[in-house]
Amino acid sequence: MPLRNSSRPPTKVPLEMPLEAFPGIAQKFSKYLKKLGIMTVHDLLWHFPARYEDFSEVRRIADLEPGEQSTIRGVIEEVSLKHTWRRNFAIVEAIIADESGSIRAVWFNQPYIANTLRAGKNVNFAGKVSVSHEGDLYLQNPAYEIMANRGAQSEEQETRHTARLVPIYPETRGLTSKGLRFLLQPILKSAEPVKEWIPAEILAGERLPEINLALSSIHFPDDIDDAMRARRRFSFEDLFLLQLWNASQKIKLKHERAHPVPADVERLKAIIERLPYELTLSQKKSLWEILKDMEKGAPMNRLLQGDVGSGKTVIAALAAMAAAEHGSQTAFMAPTEILARQHFTTLRGILSGTGAAIATALLTASEAKVRYADGLEADLPKKELRERIEKGEIGIVIGTHALIAGNDAGNISFARLALVVVDEQHRFGVKQRQALLDREYKPHFLSMSATPIPRTLMMTVFGDLDISTITELPSGRKPIETKVVPPAERDHTYQFIREEVGRGRQVFVICPRIEGKRASDENRKLSPREEKQLELKSVKEEYEKLSQKVFSDLRVAMLHGQMKAKEKEAAMRAFAEGTTDILVSTSVVEVGVDIKNATIMMIEGSDRFGLAQLYQFRGRVGRGEHASYCFLFTDSKGAATHARLKAIVEAKNGFELAEKDLKIRGPGEFLGESQSGLPDVAMQALADPGLVQSSREAAAKIIESDPEFAAYPLLKTRMEEFERSIHLE
Ligand code: ADP
Ligand code: MG
Repeated sequence: MPLRNSSRPPTKVPLEMPLEAFPGIAQKFSKYLKKLGIMTVHDLLWHFPARYEDFSEVRRIADLEPGEQSTIRGVIEEVSLKHTWRRNFAIVEAIIADESGSIRAVWFNQPYIANTLRAGKNVNFAGKVSVSHEGDLYLQNPAYEIMANRGAQSEEQETRHTARLVPIYPETRGLTSKGLRFLLQPILKSAEPVKEWIPAEILAGERLPEINLALSSIHFPDDIDDAMRARRRFSFEDLFLLQLWNASQKIKLKHERAHPVPADVERLKAIIERLPYELTLSQKKSLWEILKDMEKGAPMNRLLQGDVGSGKTVIAALAAMAAAEHGSQTAFMAPTEILARQHFTTLRGILSGTGAAIATALLTASEAKVRYADGLEADLPKKELRERIEKGEIGIVIGTHALIAGNDAGNISFARLALVVVDEQHRFGVKQRQALLDREYKPHFLSMSATPIPRTLMMTVFGDLDISTITELPSGRKPIETKVVPPAERDHTYQFIREEVGRGRQVFVICPRIEGKRASDENRKLSPREEKQLELKSVKEEYEKLSQKVFSDLRVAMLHGQMKAKEKEAAMRAFAEGTTDILVSTSVVEVGVDIKNATIMMIEGSDRFGLAQLYQFRGRVGRGEHASYCFLFTDSKGAATHARLKAIVEAKNGFELAEKDLKIRGPGEFLGESQSGLPDVAMQALADPGLVQSSREAAAKIIESDPEFAAYPLLKTRMEEFERSIHLE
């Protein structure tokens, strides 16, 4: 009988243990780990690979094919370190040979590799086979692993990094994927087991791996399927929690109290009759859904979505008027002062047409204005306006989000706040919302968004909301003629712009950045991304060019995010009032502005914007009776870019486009550029719509049978943690 070491049962390392305390983790590692936000054993275990590379097959160098991911095994013949002449950019090159031939490997900006790799060493290389300008094959930034001497090398030698399925982690300077794998292996072995918190029946039903198994598989998978099963489990976790939270929010809200607002339907019909246009069918339907909700004694939580120009404002205004007629108040919030003023003007128009006697106010950082029930208007000191609101004399208060969040306008207390309207919902934070919900009577909540969001995402991120959708545009809208413009046609387009301005129309010019190259950039090493950015048209340069050269006889103005709020307001107001012809702007002009006389939207570097964003830009024109145009400038000759831009040219509506954008760019890019601010979980949802559905069903089952999670204490704890993380956002 073999004698075993008389060892005590191994003590397991607690998950909360700081990594410094873990034997073998040098100080230098923990410094880098901290940069990644990794402090404890738990943190490290939950630092997941971003992807995997399959290096399980070792190839002969002579058999390598361009474009493949491959592992080779050979001897290093030479290593060199160079710096590029232009900037201090390090390039390490090595030549590796096996019995079939040799190949070059190249690393950018990792000079330390030159110290690790030495001629004569046996090494495994794994990476992508690329083709150089000269047509030679080479390995670009390959992973490598120094092997024992050839004689001693056996198949059993554990190859953590190369000849197998290799996890690749999000890296930081000084800590490579290789380093992380090295740290993770012992920690996975000695950490105490994690408690499973997903109910067993759900795991079984969804065929998800148990948590400890999943952790081990996600870092060191046997094969790609093993890795994907683990990944699916963790995606499910996030979605499941979010869906549970959504469902429990809905239930919670049902038990909250709100001021019921029974709509006077006859009165409202009379108001609608006197609008200068007929409401579309889906506007009517949406309004009806909103009014039905507001009649209840529990707060509404509804999102009104509809394409740019579909007429959401009037629907919200009618809901606010219904509340005002009933003696209740509405806070109507816009993301910018420009929009708040626009909404005030819109409401003024609707009110005076309908003859409804409702007092309305505009309250922003720079303005305090009231329109009394009899139609007279006056500027008021802010303090007085606040007092009038507090006394309940004002039915509808329009302002920026500061109306609620404090800051400029101060925290207003309303006498009887029944409805809160938030335009462009995705910009409205959890904190502001909380400020509204911390009161005895919760207001009815109506968010509005023109950001087209794919359905899957909707169910995930906004799953706690009821949704009304305006599906059609008002009749009689002319389609906006949209064209992708190559550099050769620039002058021709300028000529056309000149003619339009001659006819009295106005023009937006959108640029991707504010400034050109700065002096401070000259001496600094720029990232490839920064390099790319520098090539882009900047607002300031473009403004100079247009105002001094191309259109020196026209009135050109500029608008960008670095201007003071007052200056921005002034520029926007001048354009809205028609005293400037051409507005050169960054994307700040994006949301909601409604200027009927603007007929040309010209976008520089259009390939740099997300499709959804381009679509929003285009929606700024075509709002009046004049024919409108959208010119998408691009220097790119790439087929993919042109295919993407073509999607805009052909798009019939924003929601269709969002789905297309998602298909073309994939969830990462789609969310990264056009929907920033959405959580990681949204990305996972987009990648796997089936999982959204099943997490939703699983959450619904739990909430129905056990809304307090009495039978699932661990799940309950997870939910509480999740809630806290939401409120900290
Ligand atoms: P959005 O949904 O993008 O916020 P707006 O509410 O700004 O759109 O409406 C865009 C324009 O359409 C406004 O000038 C508004 O007066 C007008 N409008 C709204 N509803 C209708 C309708 N049913 N028929 C015609 N014009 C309408
Ligand atoms: Mg709007």
